[in-house]
Amino acid sequence: MSETETTTHHASKQQNGDSMAEPPMTEDVFDDTYKEKGGPKPPNILVWRNIILMSFLHIGALYGLTHIPSASVLTLSWTVVCYIISGLGITAGVHRLWSHRSYKASFPLRVFLAFANSMAFQNDIYEWARDHRVHHKYSETDADPHNVKRGFFFAHVGWLLVRKHPEVTAKGQKLELSDLKADKVVMFQRRYYKLSVVTTCFLLPTLVPWFFWGESLAVAFLIPGLMRYALVLNVTWLVNSAAHIWGNRPYDKTNESRENRMVAFSAMGEGFHNYHHAFPFDYSTSEFGWRLNPTTAFIDLMCFLGLAKDCKTVSSETVIAHAKRLGDGSYKTG
Ligand SMILES: [Zn+2]
Ligand SMILES: [Zn+2]
Repeated sequence: MSETETTTHHASKQQNGDSMAEPPMTEDVFDDTYKEKGGPKPPNILVWRNIILMSFLHIGALYGLTHIPSASVLTLSWTVVCYIISGLGITAGVHRLWSHRSYKASFPLRVFLAFANSMAFQNDIYEWARDHRVHHKYSETDADPHNVKRGFFFAHVGWLLVRKHPEVTAKGQKLELSDLKADKVVMFQRRYYKLSVVTTCFLLPTLVPWFFWGESLAVAFLIPGLMRYALVLNVTWLVNSAAHIWGNRPYDKTNESRENRMVAFSAMGEGFHNYHHAFPFDYSTSEFGWRLNPTTAFIDLMCFLGLAKDCKTVSSETVIAHAKRLGDGSYKTG
């Protein structure tokens, strides 16, 4: 996909002088010249630390479920707030902004998104974006961190429980990531990542209900803390698993990414995944605007407030031509 096919979204058209000088983003563009090495696949080497931590987290989250009836309405509302903030840290933050550079964000917005990203605790922005660019560039090959050809479980969480395939590491190291290295907010979050996670993912969600409305520390830790964290993790993972297995491929049937409304709904707009793999630079990850896509509404609001600009999108002619050429025939216009 060439950069010439991008256009700037009218609602946020705030051209600035340096936008023309920027090199086009190519690190997330699918590389169809890549060929997997032949021979036997390397064995799965278990990472026991992650297996134990993930097991405890999910047991804690399930235990948290049983405490929902004893939680106050305010605590449950706070859980939703924490879910939305941490979700935006992934969707609007590390995904659409930092992995794909599909729009530009001002310093205060980047600080908020980095804070929200730490609350989601899914590796720091630099690492997440690097893995994600590798996912787009080498989709469904040995070099894809969560290669869906290794099955649902691997694409969902298994990839975090075993050592990376050597090709994932090798290809990740080849990316320059110069834009991420140049972003002080990204590097600051990386430097203080552990402290920021303890504070934003665990302490803040737990202490707010306890301090402001007298919720018990146990309930506050289990529900807005562990349960919310596990939920955001699993919903994010569904984009890698379910949205690479179930759904139509109206835009491009040459890869396994799918349009999955259930994932779009739960992941705040990230389930239009066949479209997203066809046009990774589109800030909306879909051609349907705000439909099932609160992240797009959030970015549009940020543009309205002057905190974001230069949202990249795709003309409908380009989308239709692409769907006609490569889609599975399920594409409907209008
Ligand atoms: Zn994908
Ligand atoms: Zn992506």
